[in-house]
Amino acid sequence: MATDLRVSLTDRCNLRCSYCMPAEGLDWLPDDQTLTDDEVVRLIDIAVRRLGVTEVRFTGGEPLVRRGLVDIVRRTHELGVETSLTTNALGLARTAVALREAGLDRINVSIDTVRPETFHEITRRDRLKDVIAGLEAAREAGLAPLKLNAVLLRGTNEDQASELLAWALERGYDLRFIEQMPLDAQHGWSRAEMVTADEIFEQLSADFTLTPHGQPRGSDPAELFDVDGGPGAVGIIASVTRPFCGDCDRVRLTADGQIRNCLFARDESDLRGAMRAGATDDELADRWVTAMLGKRTGHGIDDPSFLQPDRPMSAIGG
Ligand code: SAM
Ligand code: SF4
Repeated sequence: MATDLRVSLTDRCNLRCSYCMPAEGLDWLPDDQTLTDDEVVRLIDIAVRRLGVTEVRFTGGEPLVRRGLVDIVRRTHELGVETSLTTNALGLARTAVALREAGLDRINVSIDTVRPETFHEITRRDRLKDVIAGLEAAREAGLAPLKLNAVLLRGTNEDQASELLAWALERGYDLRFIEQMPLDAQHGWSRAEMVTADEIFEQLSADFTLTPHGQPRGSDPAELFDVDGGPGAVGIIASVTRPFCGDCDRVRLTADGQIRNCLFARDESDLRGAMRAGATDDELADRWVTAMLGKRTGHGIDDPSFLQPDRPMSAIGG
């Protein structure tokens, strides 16, 4: 069974990253279709007590825009599992301490550039300063080591890998590059345009000496490299060109209560409907297990029959 649960707390976001959603945003989920705080915690409790989940990562959309976030983190922490958050860090400067006190263990912040004009071009918002303030607040709150996620886009920040790595190393942040995946709402992804893991490695190698970190990778999707002999390191996640589906231990719960056994799944299992119709914990757990049995062995992006899922990344939970 999958032990790493990704919980999307909302499909809404205050940025508009071009590889994720269109400038005008999306048709957000209506409130009555979004799980309440109690419903989210009940499903997490079932996952932990009955299905062996050991780590819960909150994501979205942007999880920091969810009003009940701190309380949900606290109640999840009390179940005795590791808790983490993937966020764009807007507003983190205000909530980092409360999140830490609620028991949050780790945080991943998405930042694709350290140039304000490129940040605006990618996210369509002028908020780089707030992201950096959020990062600093998280560190001060004790949420270290901080991981950064970056996506490189052709014609935008494709040549900024080394600059971003130097910036991250200087501040002691762990940076990982992720290949862009076909999960944008606009279906604008193209394999030919994607900046590949090999290309990222070559770019970085022009400015740094990268040596394989040597630790077994397990279910961690990043290939890790020591930078200039360490202790600094960088990760490259070749989600498209070197898929790691065989080692995947993830399961996703969407903000409207659907179980997805893969980012690229074509179908999902409705726990919200079952829960609101009065299903018991045992019945919900059974549905969840059945959904996981259908997990495919690979995402098949390279297969000619590959179909992009109907839901974009922001509505699945990245
Ligand atoms: N809003 C939060 C954030 O940006 O960190 C959490 C949700 S976001 C969907 C989670 C992660 O997915 C981010 O690191 C983002 O860069 C990544 N992401 C979004 N669309 C992607 C795509 N098409 N390919 C690869 N990564 C993507
Ligand atoms: Fe928002 Fe995260 Fe998507 Fe960017 S990647 S638009 S921050 S959900």
